Amino acid sequence: MPVHTSSFAILGAGLMGRLLAVELARQGHTVEIFDAGGPAAEHSAATVAAAMLAPLAESAITEPMVVRMGQHALGRWPQLLAALSQPVFFQQQGTLIVWHRQDAPEAQRLRRQLEATHAALPDLPRLQPLDAVGLAQVEPALAHRFQQGLYLPGEGQLDNRQLLAALAAEMESLQVRCHWQTPREATEFAPGQAGQPDWLLDCRGLGARTDWAALRGVRGEVLRVHAPEVTLQRPTRLVHPRYPIYIAPKEDHLFVIGATEIESDDRSPASVRSTLELLSAAYAVHTGFAEARIVEVATQCRPTLPDNLPAIRQPRPRVLEVNGLYRHGFMISPALLDVTMEILNTGQSQLSKKWDLAVSLDATDPCSA
Ligand SMILES: Cc1cc2nc3c(=O)[nH]c(=O)nc-3n(C[C@H](O)[C@H](O)[C@H](O)COP(=O)(O)OP(=O)(O)OC[C@H]3O[C@@H](n4cnc5c(N)ncnc54)[C@H](O)[C@@H]3O)c2cc1C
Repeated sequence: MPVHTSSFAILGAGLMGRLLAVELARQGHTVEIFDAGGPAAEHSAATVAAAMLAPLAESAITEPMVVRMGQHALGRWPQLLAALSQPVFFQQQGTLIVWHRQDAPEAQRLRRQLEATHAALPDLPRLQPLDAVGLAQVEPALAHRFQQGLYLPGEGQLDNRQLLAALAAEMESLQVRCHWQTPREATEFAPGQAGQPDWLLDCRGLGARTDWAALRGVRGEVLRVHAPEVTLQRPTRLVHPRYPIYIAPKEDHLFVIGATEIESDDRSPASVRSTLELLSAAYAVHTGFAEARIVEVATQCRPTLPDNLPAIRQPRPRVLEVNGLYRHGFMISPALLDVTMEILNTGQSQLSKKWDLAVSLDATDPCSA
């Protein structure tokens, strides 16, 4: 079997790198991790994300494989969070989708798409169409503002920054050697050779483009606002032809508002136009946002492969690359964690076959089964 007690070097302490570091250290392995930034993960996509865990809602734009991995992960997050010593906000109160009257045809199209997903994947909770009364019961803050909605039970979200901080604290207590402000290339390592780690795991997201040329960035712009007058209880999405925003309520009336998907590696600050659009769409959902305070306007690029799907590659013996998490990193990373651990422990992955996840292992690696 490939891994007994081994030493690991992990490149990238964003979402995937931290999850793997904690899991491997818990299993008794020696782990060191390198990141271009610091413990706050300021260069990662993970720190900007809304961290919604919404497999059915996302099925409108992704493949069944990602939806299945997302459903698996919804069961895994409570276990992973319970094992951390710091608390992380996590909820599973579902997703709410609303629209203005004039956008009803678009909403009907979305409903048909989600129902088709449910027919193909009947294990997913069934979506519930809401009339004005039902909507007022599910989300009283939106009573009288919208006449209809769709409720997707069981979907979740977590606080991404609390998670990153909790994982950093866990790495420290598990004696993972953290090399902050230390960018590294995979070519600087020769795993398995004397004085080198046994394995190298590359989780650098977009930073791995030097080795995985097909990676590209998909830019997103996100606002964080403090809105004491708004009491939304769950991630809420607005169907809209131009501003299809989401609003994810975190603890203490903090709201993450986002929408944009721009095919670009540009990480310059948000434009006036997209900030105006995000804010006016949020105000149209709930007028209480008028008095909100803008805490942050952030931009980042999602690490994305050509098919917009995640993948695991073994470019050479004892090196694994986990990447392409795109806009679903929080939704699927527990599934990718489980697949990676299977590969390290057995040399292959049954789970990846179940989900049709692209895993290409190096058949010449004596460590691959
Ligand atoms: C605006 C936005 C909204 C999002 N919303 C959601 C959402 O609601 N739900 C969801 O599931 N996902 C969401 N995502 C996606 C999610 O954030 C990503 O899929 C996820 O963060 C990818 O994880 P990763 O570990 O592969 O990369 P990252 O989290 O980007 O981490 C990569 C790490 O590698 C480090 N690094 C880079 N180069 C080097 C180097 N040479 N040496 C060492 N370290 C290096 C970086 O500093 C970084 O810390 C969103 C993303 C964005 C941008």
